[in-house]
Amino acid sequence: MSARILKGEEIREQIYADLRKDVAELRQQGIIPGLAAVLVGNNPASEMYVSSKVAACAELGLYSDKITPPDTITTEELLALVAQLNQRDEIDGILVQLPLPKQVNSKRILEAVDPAKDVDGFHPVSVGRLVAGQPGLVACTPAGVMEILRRSGTQIEGANAVVMGRSDIVGKPMALLLMHSHATVTICHSKTRDLPNVVRRADIVIAAMGKPGMVQPDWIKPGATVIDVGTNRITDATLAEKLFANNPKRLEKFREKGFTTVGDVHPDAAQVAGAITPVPGGVGPLTIAMLMCNTVKAARLRRGQAAAAPRSVVAAST
Ligand code: NDP
Repeated sequence: MSARILKGEEIREQIYADLRKDVAELRQQGIIPGLAAVLVGNNPASEMYVSSKVAACAELGLYSDKITPPDTITTEELLALVAQLNQRDEIDGILVQLPLPKQVNSKRILEAVDPAKDVDGFHPVSVGRLVAGQPGLVACTPAGVMEILRRSGTQIEGANAVVMGRSDIVGKPMALLLMHSHATVTICHSKTRDLPNVVRRADIVIAAMGKPGMVQPDWIKPGATVIDVGTNRITDATLAEKLFANNPKRLEKFREKGFTTVGDVHPDAAQVAGAITPVPGGVGPLTIAMLMCNTVKAARLRRGQAAAAPRSVVAAST
């Protein structure tokens, strides 16, 4: 048996189709949702992420403003910049690209963002709303995973879900979203005993540890849905040979380039699972899509309107 491959790009296009309608409706009311992206310094990876986010805004008809202070900026200066963005009415979402330079207190910056504009969902107020099951802005990657599960028709209610990883940006919000959707959730971390046997009980497996290829095919219950959030760049040929023993094309590509990106789940788990996300091309494309959703949602919520889409960014119990 071979699993159904849950392709992130396809799900992203479905979300964008919904969002375009939502944006058109807002534009008819004279509202253009706006995102401010703060990119400090010249980190090439951060520059690439911010460019993709700004391009997504342009593609969907959202306003965006890219602000690029130098990497010598102080905490106080960045706080002043965030305060200005909090005041600007045409800005619905504020994104401060991480990591920030070491002289900047990142926690103070993230907490200075107006929770109404917290499109990354990292502010303690957003986290509190998620815990309480109140409408709010939810961290983009776990919100994207919920979209994959829902749009692929995965039964969540009553399912045993195992989340590997308990970070603030992925594991914890992921577990809360699944719980609000009535899954029975187990959260695992580096101190979990006998992880393989815990995972074997799961109907839905979420891997978000940052451990390349760690989840073995024999950990997966036959027919389970496996969502691989892990994004790991590997250069180790021995590991690549282990992961791609059954995929000579991929191994050949690795040998040509000297690196590749893999998830936390061994690719052969696709022989056991019922459905699985590939890496790359699974969860990754959803993260920016959910940032766009959060910006449109913030534009509505700030004006006292109910958010139209998508459902996953509003907890299921509301
Ligand atoms: P963190 O490093 O913040 O958290 C990793 C979590 O995994 C921790 O809770 C840790 O446990 C747990 N963990 C580590 N080793 C093990 C182990 N051997 N057994 C069980 N649990 C373990 O990572 P993030 O949450 O930020 O990211 C996780 C992965 O997701 C990374 O690969 C990252 O690149 C990827 N990612 C992908 C995104 C996308 O858009 N596709 C977006 C965000 C992240 P403990 O708490 O005990 O230390």
